[in-house]
Amino acid sequence: MSVRVRYAPSPTGLQHIGGVRTALFNYFFARAMGGVFILRIEDTDQERYDPRALQDIYDTYDWLGISWDEGPRVGGPRGPYFQSQRTELYREYAQKLVDSGEGYHCFCTAERLESLRSGQEARGEGQGYDRLCRGIPPEEARARKAAGEKSVVRLKVPLEGSTSFHDRLIGDIERANRDINPDPVLLKSDGFPTYHLANVVDDHFMGITHILRAQEWIPSGPLHILLYRAFGWTPPEYCHLPMVMGEDGKKLSKRHGSTSLVEFRDQGYLPEAIINYVSLLGWSYDDTRQMFSRADLERLFSLDRLNKAAAVFDYKKLEWFNGVYIREKPDAALKDELLPFMRRAGLVEDPATPEQEAVLLAAAPLVRERLRFLGDAPELLRFLFRDPPPYSREELLPKKTEPEEILRYLGEIRSLMEGFFHRSDPENEEEFRLLAERLHTRLGSLLMPLRVAVTGSKVSPPLFESIRILGKEKTVARLVAAMEMLAARE
Ligand code: GLU
Repeated sequence: MSVRVRYAPSPTGLQHIGGVRTALFNYFFARAMGGVFILRIEDTDQERYDPRALQDIYDTYDWLGISWDEGPRVGGPRGPYFQSQRTELYREYAQKLVDSGEGYHCFCTAERLESLRSGQEARGEGQGYDRLCRGIPPEEARARKAAGEKSVVRLKVPLEGSTSFHDRLIGDIERANRDINPDPVLLKSDGFPTYHLANVVDDHFMGITHILRAQEWIPSGPLHILLYRAFGWTPPEYCHLPMVMGEDGKKLSKRHGSTSLVEFRDQGYLPEAIINYVSLLGWSYDDTRQMFSRADLERLFSLDRLNKAAAVFDYKKLEWFNGVYIREKPDAALKDELLPFMRRAGLVEDPATPEQEAVLLAAAPLVRERLRFLGDAPELLRFLFRDPPPYSREELLPKKTEPEEILRYLGEIRSLMEGFFHRSDPENEEEFRLLAERLHTRLGSLLMPLRVAVTGSKVSPPLFESIRILGKEKTVARLVAAMEMLAARE
């Protein structure tokens, strides 16, 4: 049997870590098994539908480099892949259930359901439909429908016995039928399906073989099994994925930090780092290996190595992976990753000029080791694209030095700049050492004011390399500006 799996997001909010984990596991499982990965958009909830959420699905998986074999934009033999375009099918199959006696029309008004609910609440009873319409004879229901009375279609959940299914990871899951939602709505009065009906009908007609989804869907499992049975279909294999928790043991949510992918992307995480780390949330290859590229996972992923225990999302660990992948980037690739961040900070144009590209390419190796996120780069490299940020006179003065002294040093350094760009870094280091000796001062008393003059800060990427990228003209102009500041009377 060839594997067909799907990721079935509802476009109601941004893609977050949990959803991405589900998508990745489905995708990698399909790839590793030589199967088909489907994207299906579950957009039947008109009130909660948000077109930005749909765009975010495309953007997120395009950015991660995850593509689907069937689905929106690419089509496929079992489409359409938007549930909103399949409503005829759901209506047809809801009707089949009514015809076979597995479902029934319910004519209860919103007011009646509301008073039922508040009555149950006041008496401290369990909530749920009281099955009033379940007893209406089919001919009567048909007549009321024909007369234009509004209705929904409900499933007849058996009153006795229990329903069970096997979960590949968790084992057998059994539920007493009296504990299942009493006769859930399958088709609403506006003709739109609820999640349960659309999900089951689509999984069947799209030929889905395995359902990999979050554990929060386990409670829907027995109901779905009842639906498969009512239709006379064979259910797919189930595998509910381990929960993803924050470090406090509660379900991962905004309270713990960023969870939406767009936030991670904007902060400057690399897709490689996200894919690698998220794949380890509930899966492992063996007890030691932790570095996996997308291509590795496409080969190595298997359901047998899923963990039962909940996974803990560790922001620090993700940050660590990000650093590893940033350091693996060759200069040109790192430059390309940094460009959008520099652009957003207003430091390079859109598109970047060839000169800006060249500066960034030269600067990439200077910051590679220091970046936790790509978003750290603009701050570190600003001085290469703009005048240095304003600094105070005091910042130019190392401890126990006088302005006149530093003024003199900077004058000497300015002279050194004449030959600086013709010498190698070790040769320049030697020149500065000799100068310090000649001036009877420490090397630090030369380099620190130079660094502040050139970069506007006491901490910067390696100084000589930075000066080389900045060029003689700008370096000298910045030295002169610093000297003028020191020379000015307070
Ligand atoms: N649309 C559901 C969701 O948003 C799909 C759940 C499932 O995979 O059955 O997660």
